[in-house]
Amino acid sequence: LQTGLPQTGLVVARHGANLAVENDHGQVFHCVSRRHIGDPVCGDRVSWTPTDAGMGLVTALEPRQSLLSRPDGTGRNKPLAANLTQVAIVVAPEPPPAGDLIDQYLITAEHIGVRALLLCNKSDLLADAPAQLLLERLSLYRRIGYPLLQVSARDPGGLEPLREVLRGELSMLVGQSGVGKSSITQALLPDQEVRIGQLSQATGRGRHTTSTASCYRLPDGGHLIDSPGVRSFRLPPLSQTALEQGFREFRPHLGQCRFADCHHGVEPDCAIRAAIESGEITSERWEAFQRLIHRL
Ligand code: GDP
Ligand code: ZN
Repeated sequence: LQTGLPQTGLVVARHGANLAVENDHGQVFHCVSRRHIGDPVCGDRVSWTPTDAGMGLVTALEPRQSLLSRPDGTGRNKPLAANLTQVAIVVAPEPPPAGDLIDQYLITAEHIGVRALLLCNKSDLLADAPAQLLLERLSLYRRIGYPLLQVSARDPGGLEPLREVLRGELSMLVGQSGVGKSSITQALLPDQEVRIGQLSQATGRGRHTTSTASCYRLPDGGHLIDSPGVRSFRLPPLSQTALEQGFREFRPHLGQCRFADCHHGVEPDCAIRAAIESGEITSERWEAFQRLIHRL
């Protein structure tokens, strides 16, 4: 490799100023970043220049197509993952999805302009009666346009439809603890241990540090970001307009209520409630909206 020729790459791990940068051929380089280039995270595209065998200097951060971030508690947003093209919301019959978590993930995906799909894991448990309720609930989301896949991490052969969906994309699995995100990741990446070792070596971070995100190259092409930062996910503060836009099936009806600032609760001539009457919006999603708007 000739020293000095600038190239582009993908940030696959970060530890402070140390970045693991992957080139188009899947080779990972240990890079340090110039101080004023911003706050690169997994999924970022960067310009970098090789400095020595396998090492490099990151000189610029490319513009982002999307950015997932979360409030850091001081009123600022901490970036978690850049350039995601899709978010797979993992749910399972056990533990069942808590509260409005699915809606919150969907709102976030809509807000940052990233496609979302639902991934129902532990399909081996779907025969139980309570699981049928979950499937009914998930079919509501499918009806408003979110793809739904059923998989079992315990049946790697059955993961083919998921591999198909992940191919060529930059994806992230989100969902509450215990639904099987790590199991699915391991099933998709049989040599994950090796990859984790490579990344921690490239960034100089401890092998068992799990506090930062990693971006894994999938065998069939595409990448999967695994971020502990989303495990404690909460909906960031949003305006009412952003919240409304986050319910994709509400959009054709927005701006048609009698009152411009309608909360779609008890106000007269509300287009959203009219859409519930006509069956275009489910009362489940309306109830989720009501709970979330009162938390704004
Ligand atoms: P995470 O917290 O979302 O990463 O979940 P884990 O991957 O750690 O999985 C939580 C538990 O669910 C573990 O005990 C897994 O063995 C189990 N599990 C994962 N996938 C499946 C599945 O498809 N079927 C069943 N029955 N159990 C699963
Ligand atoms: Zn209204």
